[in-house]
Amino acid sequence: MKIKEHNKPATLDEEEDWQQDEDAVLRVTEARYRAAFETSLDAIAICRIDDGMFVDVNRAFSETLGYSRDELVSTTSTERYTWVSPDGENCSREFVDVSGVSICDLGIWTHPEDWSNLTQRLTRHLTCRDYEAMLRSKDGSVFNALICAALINLEGVACIHLVCRDVSDKKEAEDKIYCLSYFDSVTGMPNREMLREQLGGLSAAPSSKPQLNALLTISLDALATISEVYGLAIADQILQEGAQRIASCIRSEADTVARISAREFAVLLTNLGPSARRAIESAQEVASRILHTLAVPYLVENEEFVSASNIGIHVFDSKNCEADTLLQMSAIALAEAKAAGRNKQLVFTPKFQEAARARATLERELLHALRAEQLRLFYQAQYHDSQLIGAEALIRWKHPRRGVISPGEFIPLAEESGQIVPLGEWVARTACKQIAAWNQKHIFAAPFRVAINISAQQFRQCGFVPSIIHAIQSAGADPHSIELELTETTLIDDVESVVRKMQELKEIGVHFSLDDFGTGYSCLAYLKRLPLDKLKIDISFTREILTDPGCAAIAKAIISMSDALGLTVIAEGVESVEQRDYLLQLGCRYFQGFLYGPPLPAQEFVAFSPGAR
Ligand code: C2E
Ligand code: CA
Ligand code: CA
Repeated sequence: MKIKEHNKPATLDEEEDWQQDEDAVLRVTEARYRAAFETSLDAIAICRIDDGMFVDVNRAFSETLGYSRDELVSTTSTERYTWVSPDGENCSREFVDVSGVSICDLGIWTHPEDWSNLTQRLTRHLTCRDYEAMLRSKDGSVFNALICAALINLEGVACIHLVCRDVSDKKEAEDKIYCLSYFDSVTGMPNREMLREQLGGLSAAPSSKPQLNALLTISLDALATISEVYGLAIADQILQEGAQRIASCIRSEADTVARISAREFAVLLTNLGPSARRAIESAQEVASRILHTLAVPYLVENEEFVSASNIGIHVFDSKNCEADTLLQMSAIALAEAKAAGRNKQLVFTPKFQEAARARATLERELLHALRAEQLRLFYQAQYHDSQLIGAEALIRWKHPRRGVISPGEFIPLAEESGQIVPLGEWVARTACKQIAAWNQKHIFAAPFRVAINISAQQFRQCGFVPSIIHAIQSAGADPHSIELELTETTLIDDVESVVRKMQELKEIGVHFSLDDFGTGYSCLAYLKRLPLDKLKIDISFTREILTDPGCAAIAKAIISMSDALGLTVIAEGVESVEQRDYLLQLGCRYFQGFLYGPPLPAQEFVAFSPGAR
């Protein structure tokens, strides 16, 4: 097909015909363009590049910006109208019957630099796609616009063809997604994802000197129990308060607090200088402040809550910023800090990693230990003056490779992994069978009781009471020969439910003692409500009773408190005659410890017990 424009007319007539054809084509093109311009759902405007004056706008443009077409397009006057806003700033949003008013004058650009940036880009590249700007409508409202523009020539005048779309909804949705992806909805703090990006960004930041940073992982240990017992709303308030307290311990401009899991926060301390010793000291200082502030009781809905915390610290340089590895190191240090006790902080060292691996292996092996019958119960004597009155059942794990493993090592693992529940049930069943066997053969003179250790998590199970009753009944044991040892962590639960469970078991004759007394937060008012029979003075007080006046004072207070509450008091960990005599002097007459005998397998226990038949 021949293209008309390229066929040069040869005669005058031909030239006239050619001109007419050309005009017809132009008219059709113009009509097509106008229809597309007018009916477009996108706002379209054509304006001069040098002063921004509108040459033409479509209906969508007028509607989107709230001005009539006449208000925008002007051809006659050069007069400009300037309106002075109440705060004294010059702006030109108000329009009078004038022409020559540019888009800038109309104030449709919330940030006038957007207009100049756009024109500069167009001068360089002729077109510009997906330019984002904030536009302002006549009523003053502001919206996000996505703009595509091209430089065109209209009768020798450089103009901009501008297509705008209101993308405020999309932008709002994007902002929301951004917030959800990078911020924690409960505390408003950055989340793990945001922290990972910040960690990754550290290595990219230009720095002349090597800089050390520290990543602290902080756990609020009581939160799991609090949310289980008192509900999420209370736990959330404690989290919010905790987040604020942590934030108050850091330099707001340089450091970051993030919530990285249900019960854990992280703090990133940057630019701690080049010296490892100084960086560690700074991180430890911040960690101490955090532990201190988190230990203050939380007042929520007129109730006081306390939570122990622990902190793992990992100090690293900006060149090694693989986020997941850093988080892992810090978490390993946290696990070690937890193992060291409440409110402890520890700095990561490679040997922790070894320990963490060993723990993970042990946790896996513990799964098989129950089935493979590697667990045993040992019994340790309890005396009243010189009379054997019972024994505490203490679990042992006969590991095929490692030999006997102490419960101090694997009970915390079982608690973390939830294996404590089946393990505790096994202990209760085994102890009940042993009691039944001893009772049947009248081995010990009454009253003889076996004490069974109960983990807080085990006690909290709704099937706890039935499982104990089942263990007693299926073994044919006498419930009066059973004492359950609870710890203070069990008691931070909802007191009504604790009392209800204890009462149910007390009704059939089971006794209760409170283990490790004095190491937790029990208050007298709370203790008075619990149907306890016995308090156990913790081994840590007995150990130091002759050397540390503080321990002696606590032991004394526990003994007089037991008297006041009508409870029996027993001291555990008694190793020497001197310790026993001192305790006797304070009024304690029940003892357990190496002085009376170590924990032993059932048969040996019977063999070594005076008076056993
Ligand atoms: P615990 O309940 O405070 O048990 C007393 C611990 O002190 C036992 O450690 C015992 O062997 C040790 N001990 C007793 N007398 C002396 C002494 O004179 N000197 C010294 N230095 N230590 C003494 P063990 O058997 O290693 O148990 C450690 C902890 O593991 C127990 O502390 C208890 O919290 C937990 N545990 C043991 N068996 C069980 C169990 O069956 N279930 C649960 N949930 N926890 C258990
Ligand atoms: Ca115990
Ligand atoms: Ca104890």
